[in-house]
Amino acid sequence: GAATPVALEARGLVKAFREFRATNDVSLRVDEGEIHAIIGPNGAGKTTLFNLLSGFLAPTSGEVLLFGERIHGLPPHAIVRRGLSRSFQISSVFSSLTVRENVLVALQSATALPRQFWVPLSRLDKLRPRADEILAAVGLGGAPDRLAADLSHGEKRQLEIGISLSQDPRVLLLDEPTSGMGSEGIARVIALVRQVARGRTVVLVEHNMSVVAELADRITVLQYGQVLASGKYDEVRRDPRVIEAYLGE
Ligand code: ADP
Repeated sequence: GAATPVALEARGLVKAFREFRATNDVSLRVDEGEIHAIIGPNGAGKTTLFNLLSGFLAPTSGEVLLFGERIHGLPPHAIVRRGLSRSFQISSVFSSLTVRENVLVALQSATALPRQFWVPLSRLDKLRPRADEILAAVGLGGAPDRLAADLSHGEKRQLEIGISLSQDPRVLLLDEPTSGMGSEGIARVIALVRQVARGRTVVLVEHNMSVVAELADRITVLQYGQVLASGKYDEVRRDPRVIEAYLGE
């Protein structure tokens, strides 16, 4: 049959901090519609790679292609506009706003003209049905008026994913979506990621191997800033080098 289109591709990404290469010739291919996990020990370069893919860092050399278009060197907001957005491990939630207001602000900024700092209330009202749809999708449909500050850690992570969905990304990067969660929260995030992955491409950094096993179609293992192995989860996890370096811990 026809080849699946490539959603996101990195070619030979190097990010040097002085002489140290946090990523050293990283190449990666993520097909449209797949859930791709990036794993590796602390310091392997996972965060740096995410920063390079999302425009928070410019590569020292190498390329990033989103649906075949070069995006490296573009600022993060321009990359968001081309269809890639990122949910942060560090919270992007406004504590003093309600759950729904957080999504409304995100929806508003996704459609705002540059330098448009205020919005007529009628405009926000129009965005409300979409906001409630997103809240329902991330499992917060019952809590629109709660103050974000009062959410549990897990609920805040759900809201962050909702905020990223406001930009209606074709490719969603998730930075350790289960970090700091108990088994109940983890189960909820697994279900949520499966749901948001319908019709989307998802790339996640994840430490919890049982989450990776449940979610990932393919994985890329980083070590010392380089790709140790990449491919279908079941194949990569049997790779002796991977077992030795990481999974065997
Ligand atoms: P991971 O997310 O896999 O834990 P990182 O991408 O955060 O790894 O870091 C990879 C390596 O690059 C680490 O050794 C880290 O200390 C180094 N590093 C990351 N950012 C910087 C920076 N801004 N300046 C210098 N070294 C950095």
